[in-house]
Amino acid sequence: MKNSDLLREAYDPAAFRRLGHEVIDLLADHLEQLAHKPANQLKPPQEMYDFWSATLENTSGNALTDWLPQLLQYSVQVPHPRYMGHQISPPVPMSALAGLVDGLLNNGMGVYEMGASSTAMERAVIRVVADQMELGQAADGFLTSGGTLANLTALLAARSRHTEVWNKGNKQQLALMVSEEAHYCVSRAVRIMGWGAAGLILVPADHQRRMRADALEAELFRAESEGKKVIAVIGSACSTSTGAFDPLSDIADFCTRHQLWFHVDGAHGGALCFSRKHRHLLEGIARADSVVMDFHKMLLQPAITTALVFKDGQQSFRTFQQKAHYLWSEQQEPEWHNLAKRTFECTKLMMSVRIYSVLRAYGTSLWERYVDQVIECGQELARQVQARADFELAVPPSCNIVCFRYTKMGLRPEQLNALNTGLRQQIIEDGRFYIVQTSLDGQVYLRCTLASPFTTSEDIRALLDFITKLAAE
Ligand SMILES: *Cc1c(COP(=O)(O)O)cnc(C)c1O
Repeated sequence: MKNSDLLREAYDPAAFRRLGHEVIDLLADHLEQLAHKPANQLKPPQEMYDFWSATLENTSGNALTDWLPQLLQYSVQVPHPRYMGHQISPPVPMSALAGLVDGLLNNGMGVYEMGASSTAMERAVIRVVADQMELGQAADGFLTSGGTLANLTALLAARSRHTEVWNKGNKQQLALMVSEEAHYCVSRAVRIMGWGAAGLILVPADHQRRMRADALEAELFRAESEGKKVIAVIGSACSTSTGAFDPLSDIADFCTRHQLWFHVDGAHGGALCFSRKHRHLLEGIARADSVVMDFHKMLLQPAITTALVFKDGQQSFRTFQQKAHYLWSEQQEPEWHNLAKRTFECTKLMMSVRIYSVLRAYGTSLWERYVDQVIECGQELARQVQARADFELAVPPSCNIVCFRYTKMGLRPEQLNALNTGLRQQIIEDGRFYIVQTSLDGQVYLRCTLASPFTTSEDIRALLDFITKLAAE
């Protein structure tokens, strides 16, 4: 085949139409049959590599549909009612379709001209988030690639307010304060910014693993006496391992008193702003200088889609005080519509299209229903755990993250750890359920994020029965 024919064939709209119908049919069949399949059919890494690299040798004419069934089989089934693993939501099929549109349009998003509609949609989406969080009319922000990157971006803005570090580098020992329960990306951000271990001040947590706001004063005093310049406090809403919500109002009071930047890492739990029933856990978020919220954790979006919102929208232009003459001519103008002025990404996915598709179809009601539903599922798991003598809850859950463990009378701590680690390993190898584990104060707990809106109390009972049966063997 001549090269020009190969290109023509690869881009042929008629072939795309045919294949597209087949792909959607396969995916819809997959979703219909999901509940009868394992939640995760996990194979060892080398076996998977051998399988996929061997099939790559035979490339001629193989359409997506030839190998899609295997990809479906050997993927973790996030929408499965018995998927209760890491924090990621089953995408609403409509937003997955919008992702297909996004992939085909491939607007670059760095400047307005390279994505006029999706840039405007992005602003509209951010407005909805800012309003739900009651951040006020001056609030503004953007979408970016994940909570990890969004937290770093926000902290760079906080840093720029206090120093001229962009041009002159770090001169002082800067530091921020965050709960000892915070996500590891905060520690990473501190080290990326060049502050070293000394830049991360871990504030102790209470028995429910929320930041002890009453400990902030002493920590600040100690840091200052060691010559550190503390510039920000981060509230976790919620923490990753147990789902604990820090007392945001108290942290806001503290930040106001000491003129510190108040950042909220709401990667997971920021979504509760859409729930009238649960938004009280976010009380105080309206006073944050910056807030991060993932759409792929509790808001039914495909990864990876994160909102970063600043209470004072102007602050969002502080992060990167940089020039790029080929992109925009007005260097200093805070233009909301040239997004790369404010994002790490130069080229970026058209994330807003997927979110917009859901808002357009369901408003914010779908998110509210989902958030309420999965939190209720978490409560149900907690109730069932507490009703069984041989199970123990780590902390009462606030959202859809639940940590618990299997216990036996007379076992020493390390034996309990080995028992629960073994149980989780057997659950993974079996594949019917997918759950994860975490370590709290050196003790191993099984950890579930209830992600499917279709998990029933029967599924939960089946999980606990299965663990009991494994433990008896
Ligand atoms: C998941 C999570 C992150 C990281 O977000 P990604 O989107 O995975 O990069 C950060 N903070 C908290 C509290 C989280 O739960």
